[in-house]
Amino acid sequence: MTTARPAMDPAEETALLDSIQKWVDREVRPVVMHHDHNDIWPAELVDQMAEMGLFGATIGSEYGGLGLPATTYAKIVSQIASYWMAITGIFNSHLIMAVAVERFGTPEQKAEWLPKFATGEIRGGLALTEPNAGTDLQAIRTTAVRDGDDYVINGTKTWISNGLNGSCFALLVKTDPKAEPRYKGMSLFIAPKGPGFTTGKKFEKLGYKGIDSAELIFDNYRIPAANLIGGVEGQGFFQATGGLELGRINVAARGVGLAEGALRLATDYAQQRQTMGKPIADHQAIQLYLGDMVTRARAARLLTFDAAEAYDRGERCDMQAGMAKYFASEAAVKNSQEAMRIYGGYSYSKEYEIERFYRDSMLMCIGEGTNEMQRMIIAKQWVKRNPA
Ligand SMILES: Cc1cc2nc3c(=O)[nH]c(=O)nc-3n(C[C@H](O)[C@H](O)[C@H](O)COP(=O)(O)OP(=O)(O)OC[C@H]3O[C@@H](n4cnc5c(N)ncnc54)[C@H](O)[C@@H]3O)c2cc1C
Repeated sequence: MTTARPAMDPAEETALLDSIQKWVDREVRPVVMHHDHNDIWPAELVDQMAEMGLFGATIGSEYGGLGLPATTYAKIVSQIASYWMAITGIFNSHLIMAVAVERFGTPEQKAEWLPKFATGEIRGGLALTEPNAGTDLQAIRTTAVRDGDDYVINGTKTWISNGLNGSCFALLVKTDPKAEPRYKGMSLFIAPKGPGFTTGKKFEKLGYKGIDSAELIFDNYRIPAANLIGGVEGQGFFQATGGLELGRINVAARGVGLAEGALRLATDYAQQRQTMGKPIADHQAIQLYLGDMVTRARAARLLTFDAAEAYDRGERCDMQAGMAKYFASEAAVKNSQEAMRIYGGYSYSKEYEIERFYRDSMLMCIGEGTNEMQRMIIAKQWVKRNPA
């Protein structure tokens, strides 16, 4: 459960979204294809996102953040993602790290780290996954051993978003590898890069270009005990997965953006492309696709805002966030694929944008808990709420 956050004043929210749209039109759209095709880190856009306050979007105003409710945040994310999903990952992964500190950190940790996270002076992400442990997070092998006022950390994380360009990560480790149940031996640290903490290989990916995904290597990395989030060992599993509610709402919002973006492109194309003497939008086969796509995008949006509103009320919303993440990510995949069919042969050309939506969308089904796991979470919650 989170602290309730009031909805934003509608006029202020509209002004904020208008300014984001102007930025997208002016700065993002002209560069997206070049950056995506060449997998270039968008340094200028990152600076501009920091200036707009996006690295502090959900961080409380008392720490210099914008303090936005999840609903407004989800609107921003879906709006940007409908043009280039990958750049939303740059600030979202960072904000999941910030959420862990804001929700579970000591007052000293919040005062020290959150203002720097909010400005983007320190940027990073969440380092959970290891080569042998993705879904089964409790199987991680990275260890932190207490040594005086420090901990000494050894292990390898993989697939970490912002791994190369970020400088600080919320790092999940085992402080008691023998603990049973396993989650009781897990702790979360605020881990800035330094001696013993290096970046390994950067992954070559199908999509999600621009943002780097990399290995993080810890070789006798020494970190002050003051960086243990909350100051108590054994809380890491819940701290790491606690932030995933907002993470899932964010992935859902990215899915909404991809589903709506693919729909926008396909709608334009279907009215411009002519066959048999008329726009293909007039052919029933294409109308069936468009009818499905617009319905899917709308349903994804409604589910996502249902979850975001519950989050803003401070309610437990793992079931709603799971449903939103599951449905919106599948909607993104399906809408991208159907847009490809509407584009016909040109969908396969890198001169058109739609192929990026096709490449980017599948990740939404995998990140922040796979859709297989989402369905199991939804079912378990549903049965629990409906005892026979
Ligand atoms: C581009 C990208 C960016 C990423 N960014 C980050 C990041 O910033 N930080 C981070 O920590 N991680 C990150 N990840 C890792 C991501 O979170 C994991 O890939 C994801 O959790 C799945 O883990 P896995 O790949 O090990 O798959 P596995 O856990 O091996 O799963 C393989 C398959 O088995 C299924 N499965 C597994 N267990 C069960 C079960 N109990 N019941 C039913 N089905 C099951 C899964 O649903 C999946 O279909 C990223 C991954 C990618 C591709």
